Amino acid sequence: MKVYLDYAATTPPDERVLKKMLPCMTEVFGNASSLHSYGRAALSAVDRARDEIASILHCSASEIFFTSGGTESDNWALRGVVSASSLSKKHIITTRIEHPAILSTCQELEREGCEVTYVGVDEKGFVDPNDVFAAIRDNTVLVAVMTANNEIGTIQPIADIGALCREKGIPFYTDAVQAVGSIRIDVQAMNIDMLGFSAHKIYGPKGVGVLYVKNGVRFDSLIYGGEQEHGKRAGTTNTPGIVGTAEALRLTVEEMEESNERIKALRDRFIERAEKEIPFCRLAGARENRLVGNADFIFDGIRGESLLMALDMAGIAVGSGSACSSGSQNPSHVILAIGGSDEDARSSVRFSFGKHTTQEEVDYVVDVLKSKVEKLRETTLFKVIAAKGERL
Ligand SMILES: *Cc1c(COP(=O)(O)O)cnc(C)c1O
Repeated sequence: MKVYLDYAATTPPDERVLKKMLPCMTEVFGNASSLHSYGRAALSAVDRARDEIASILHCSASEIFFTSGGTESDNWALRGVVSASSLSKKHIITTRIEHPAILSTCQELEREGCEVTYVGVDEKGFVDPNDVFAAIRDNTVLVAVMTANNEIGTIQPIADIGALCREKGIPFYTDAVQAVGSIRIDVQAMNIDMLGFSAHKIYGPKGVGVLYVKNGVRFDSLIYGGEQEHGKRAGTTNTPGIVGTAEALRLTVEEMEESNERIKALRDRFIERAEKEIPFCRLAGARENRLVGNADFIFDGIRGESLLMALDMAGIAVGSGSACSSGSQNPSHVILAIGGSDEDARSSVRFSFGKHTTQEEVDYVVDVLKSKVEKLRETTLFKVIAAKGERL
């Protein structure tokens, strides 16, 4: 049996999305910037996609920019706003649990002379809006807090953070890559000035994403060349990708309620069984306000990567820490941020569930997990310590 439980890393494209994309690689192959009928056909497909996305996010089409994915949206939001500010010394506020696309960009901006405050989170993984408020300085040009975390799935109080940024007149960006398609997003109701998401995390194609920027927010281009994307993001328009993004968003949002209910039940069954049947393991992060498809566990005495590989041998695909640091044996910065030890931060495995997950799969994974965990622990000192009744 092969089981895919790594939906937070990427999702299999929906057949209906592929069906919508295919004509954009055959009949409608034109360059959307061309003036002739081929170009106009492509442009009209792109316009329709932009309108559809804008209406779902509750903004206007002129505020939607297509990018190459979540990573570019994150980079662009940060760099675009910093570059457009005329202050001599600029300050950004973000959190310690952001995706590497945000954290690495911030570190690079620091090397370039920017100041960055990394706000911490509580032991459940939540940002306190008061901490964001307290970090605001005269030269703060941007606040960036992710909507939902990619490792432990915690959903942040975005509307509250957005409201206080509004009050202070500071643009607020949120990386909503994990949240879009899983929770309802309304950029107006949630006081969001800028938002990024990615198609491949919502059953769409890889290599395409969106950056929403509220009219009036000053930001510079990241990529220079032609006049595509309201003159802000150059490069020949990715018509199939854009059409696929809109269709993927439309479908996931339309089917969200029904699919969330199913996924949550399976995820909860997994958590319940794992906690009951596997000794010395615990859920990382909060139980409430957590993405329905996420269960991140710490297994005492086991390296996350070792468990990942052992499960892979049995045909089960899971994630370890953040996908971008897997293979590097780095401890998870998210587990460290919620107060986990260095050992904990190397012992986490992420199980992420999606619309194709079945109960049979969940039960199979728990059974395999039980025996793999036991086997891996035989080779460590864990048995001795556990026998003495002590925690690692
Ligand atoms: C996957 C992910 C990204 C990166 O998106 P890509 O489209 O793969 O570049 C950024 N942020 C979060 C929270 C993610 O989960």
